[in-house]
Amino acid sequence: MTPEPATICLGCWQNLHMPIPLRGPLSAPFRLFGVRPSRMNPNTCTICEMAFSKIMKARAVTIDATILFADLRGYTTLTQTIAPAGLTSLLDAFYDDCAAAIWRYDGILNKTIGDAVFAIFNFPVRRDDHAVQALQAAREIQRRFQERHDALVRTIGAGDIELGIGIGMDSGDTNFGEFGQTHRDLTAVGTVVNRAARAQAAAKSGEILVTAAVRDRTRDMITAAGSDYTLKGFDQPVTLFSA
Ligand SMILES: [Zn+2]
Repeated sequence: MTPEPATICLGCWQNLHMPIPLRGPLSAPFRLFGVRPSRMNPNTCTICEMAFSKIMKARAVTIDATILFADLRGYTTLTQTIAPAGLTSLLDAFYDDCAAAIWRYDGILNKTIGDAVFAIFNFPVRRDDHAVQALQAAREIQRRFQERHDALVRTIGAGDIELGIGIGMDSGDTNFGEFGQTHRDLTAVGTVVNRAARAQAAAKSGEILVTAAVRDRTRDMITAAGSDYTLKGFDQPVTLFSA
């Protein structure tokens, strides 16, 4: 967990043993060369984002990671009933809560996709316990949203529409790197990513659903028994645990 804004890049320090200043006067010369805090995690830097092409000389590598998808339930229904300003403040609150929790537990917020976020844990900040960190982030996302739920519903005039967050997670080998020729995109792909996305789709509002791989790595944090789910794109039922 990284509670305060870091003064040097956590990724560069861990992976390259280089102290890259992110904030304060020492960071100014680095800014001149385009080195700044990463938008995916402000405790890491833009050098980390280029690590694949420039430093590792590889387009993509296999890394063990935990993938988290979180989706704002009720948003699509709301788009038909409330004013754009309300929708904006709702999405702002959702993105802000997700980002704060993900960064606090050393993940990157890789993408926002409409009313969903996609986070990756274990790059560029390496953590042996990345599944534990990711689950703590997931719980914090749910907690923060619960805390502001009533005020949010009042402010935006959501009425009877149920607002909540569904979260899905999986851990394992992912193909991580820069994909695409014309539009280079740093992201993770593979079965683990797909399974996490499908687990998120299966999660009820307010629920976190994780695979056996995540459960095995976070054992004392999860007591619920697993249930089999039929997930789109997977031939066999997948056992998921409510966490
Ligand atoms: Zn860095």
